[in-house]
Amino acid sequence: AKPLVEVKDLKKHFPVQKGWFEKNKSAIQAVNGVSFTIEEGETFGLVGESGCGKSTTGRMIMNLLSPSSGNIYFDGQEISSLSDTNLRNVRKNFQMVFQDPYASLNPRMKVKEIISEPLTIHKYEKVQKEKRVNELLDIVGLNKNYADRYPHEFSGGQRQRIGVARALALNPKLIIADEPVSALDVSIQSQILNLLQDLQEELGLTYLFISHDLSVMEHISDRVGVMYLGELVELAGKDMIYDHPKHPYTQALLSSIPIPDPTVKRERIILKGDIPSPANPPSGCRFHTRCPYAMEKCMTEKPRLKRVADGQLVACHLYD
Ligand code: SF4
Ligand code: MG
Repeated sequence: AKPLVEVKDLKKHFPVQKGWFEKNKSAIQAVNGVSFTIEEGETFGLVGESGCGKSTTGRMIMNLLSPSSGNIYFDGQEISSLSDTNLRNVRKNFQMVFQDPYASLNPRMKVKEIISEPLTIHKYEKVQKEKRVNELLDIVGLNKNYADRYPHEFSGGQRQRIGVARALALNPKLIIADEPVSALDVSIQSQILNLLQDLQEELGLTYLFISHDLSVMEHISDRVGVMYLGELVELAGKDMIYDHPKHPYTQALLSSIPIPDPTVKRERIILKGDIPSPANPPSGCRFHTRCPYAMEKCMTEKPRLKRVADGQLVACHLYD
């Protein structure tokens, strides 16, 4: 079966002028050649520290940002070259759930107006809209009587449910969720994650789940891509990433999450230095300035993402 989404060598470089008297322009290499697929019905997670390019990748797939180069295919169709009308029809199939349910809901709009906004844009009749709003409130576990209230009357978790209801309004195939639980209390986080999982099963949804939080990622994802400084360094099934991480960066990230089983000991790997600037990334392997295993060739030769085990891709010279 062909993947629902395929991303090929996607790049986003934001130009920056160094100073008005300086002739040489540079660019922030926010995303630098990322490729992956998302299979129908799965949850594909993009994980990495803030600034690694995961949100920028999600926004390009959402068509909120245009790529500097590379391709995005939806159901086999390249979407960045579509005409406006065709794009609007394809765009219906993906929706986004944002990090901050406080900021992403208009405080002056009633819940029913917020949820039905996408329906209004697609010219649904009033009666149809009302029916759909009631359905959607029910699907996300909210009371129908909430339709006439305003966002400030709700808790963070309830607001995120409203955000999810709005995202579902047009029956999308793909939901891009960018840090959807990061602003919520830990106890509420699992409720929203469980809701997303239930909805996936009921509605056959596909998720691109973006998070810096490895525990959240482990809870929700089927496959995980690990990003560092705009590039994918490892991509594998969730169990392989968590049980047998191969890239030194993935190993370091995972060593920082607490293990519930006290009999299992894991050494915390502390990385030296800070993340370099994406405007001036290191040569060769972008991780070489912080990698405990860095070798001579890591400074000059960029490691390509290659298969090291069944379904596990790693970009590291240790596996050449
Ligand atoms: Fe470390 Fe070299 Fe592998 Fe990069 S390629 S992760 S620097 S060992
Ligand atoms: Mg982000």
